Amino acid sequence: MVILNHKVLKESENTLVPDNSRPQREERREPHSWGKRNWFQLGVFLATIGIGVQFFIYVHQASGNGVITVLRPPGVEGFLPIGALMGWKLFVQTGIWDSVHPAAMVLLGFAGFISLALRKSFCGWFCPVGTFSEWLWKLGRGLFGKNYKLPVWLDFPLRSLKYLLLGFFVVIIFSMSSPDILGFLESPYYKISDVKMLHFFTRMTMLTMIVLTVLVLSSLFVRNAWCRYLCPYGGLMGLLALCSPTRIQRNPDTCIGCKSCSEACPYDLPVDSKLYIRSPECNGCMECTRVCPAENTLALKTKGTGKIFWNATRVGTVIIGIYIMMVYTAGITGHWKSSVTDHEFRARLQTIDSPEITHPKVRFK
Ligand code: SF4
Ligand code: SF4
Repeated sequence: MVILNHKVLKESENTLVPDNSRPQREERREPHSWGKRNWFQLGVFLATIGIGVQFFIYVHQASGNGVITVLRPPGVEGFLPIGALMGWKLFVQTGIWDSVHPAAMVLLGFAGFISLALRKSFCGWFCPVGTFSEWLWKLGRGLFGKNYKLPVWLDFPLRSLKYLLLGFFVVIIFSMSSPDILGFLESPYYKISDVKMLHFFTRMTMLTMIVLTVLVLSSLFVRNAWCRYLCPYGGLMGLLALCSPTRIQRNPDTCIGCKSCSEACPYDLPVDSKLYIRSPECNGCMECTRVCPAENTLALKTKGTGKIFWNATRVGTVIIGIYIMMVYTAGITGHWKSSVTDHEFRARLQTIDSPEITHPKVRFK
């Protein structure tokens, strides 16, 4: 008897009949079809666009002399991960919480926490850059009929680049003393570093345009090219996920060996041949579990909890619950809003292009 595509080929009869002993999952999805996680990602992406527009309007109003009618959105500080990492080092060493961009620390803490709990889920569920990257490779798949895989000998070392970039930043930050970090976080440059980040998009240089174009084009062909090879933030989340209590778990007794899971995995992880996926590359996207045709075979599970598994609704609910809880707690305890007033912000904006607003020199210990 041979098992083939969820049917049993009875050699004696040489016919295909349904294999009733291996019930199929009614909710099985086609690979890369739109699911709950994608709705979640879309919601976060649109919220991020909204925050960006609000910040743009705020900066525009603060650049003039009129009344500022919008609030500066703290969420924009999510794009300052290096400052956030410095802030966390300072906080651990001295107990001082960065008051200039406090939301940056909260958002890095949130990303790290959910990635620790649910397998780098910040990248697979929340990060707007990851979402955009995913849309690009799906668009490329639609346009060219497939995505392309680099040969293993090239793919593997390229994946290491994000860890090297992360290591570079970590070495610099950990080489800085607490007074130096404090000096950086209170410098005129850091106080308007969010505007510098905005200028990255609104005053794009030719080099920036070329780099972004290359990244966009490569993302059309290679799945999650930016996240896969270059994003140090994702590298950090992946290392945290190594300590995660959750993991994709396969039941070899009910697995029919169809390989749908490995084919659906955007990171080409060998799901069909492993009992557990512990790789720091796994972003908890659950595409593998969505396409698996064999019931009770593949699931995101917490170690030692037997049959209890995480579905998309549970993961999404926990992520948004943790986000609300952390932001609310930070808000009511004064760890969310910047201490830079509108008045000071406006004054700093006047000098943003002057030579003294440069990146402070980093002094190594
Ligand atoms: S192993 Fe599954 S959950 Fe992990 S990245 Fe691959 S498809 Fe997503
Ligand atoms: S675990 Fe993977 S190989 Fe096994 S049945 Fe499910 S999709 Fe197919």
